[in-house]
Amino acid sequence: MSRRMLGVLCLGLMLCACATGVVAESDTAQTHPAVEKPATVTAEQWGSDPLPIPEERKHEPKFITIHHAGADWKAGSDPYEKIRNLQAWGKKSVEDGGKDWPDLPYHFLISPDGRVFEGRPVVYEPETNTNYGVRSHIGVQLWGNFETQRISPQQVASAVRLVAWLSQEYGVGDDLIRGHRDMAEGTSCPGMDLYRYLEDGQFLGWVNQIRAGETPVIDLGPALEDGPTERIPLPE
Ligand SMILES: [Zn+2]
Repeated sequence: MSRRMLGVLCLGLMLCACATGVVAESDTAQTHPAVEKPATVTAEQWGSDPLPIPEERKHEPKFITIHHAGADWKAGSDPYEKIRNLQAWGKKSVEDGGKDWPDLPYHFLISPDGRVFEGRPVVYEPETNTNYGVRSHIGVQLWGNFETQRISPQQVASAVRLVAWLSQEYGVGDDLIRGHRDMAEGTSCPGMDLYRYLEDGQFLGWVNQIRAGETPVIDLGPALEDGPTERIPLPE
């Protein structure tokens, strides 16, 4: 599959439609020590080369929306190459098969081995292909296709830690931490083998453990009966 196809797949799945948000109280207890920012690969470290983003695209983050790439993660893939290709493709003009985007469509991207890459700065709204706004959303994408691949515990652990920190920093209530499919119709994003943990409350339970200063044991359990069985390969 070509890179462009991968990009189209990925973006096809990330067309966020914002639900009307209900402002919720954060569950973050004041008595616990602050959650520290997880280690990240900064935009500078992976060689980001964005275009300037207009001031009017600054927003106030209120939601955290979880995505998958929607394209299988192949053995031997390099997340540095992936993220640079995604940015380069998005920056191309529409006539050239790109999106005319100044920067990555997501704010954070998580590799199967749990490395967290910083994408578009959080102060700017992300991107969408639809008329539905993604303003006020923080977009967190996990590489892989969790309709066809099982997510790795490292990837979930990093997402949990990142969401615990982001929700603290931006005051995002627990009910505004959602999967893409909770926001938009017609998408399975972030894929059944990730969505299951959002749906059954385990993900939020792990987030709460981080907030309480604990280290959650991420036990992903057996494969879903109708779900993928093959574990996503880890980068070398
Ligand atoms: Zn999505």
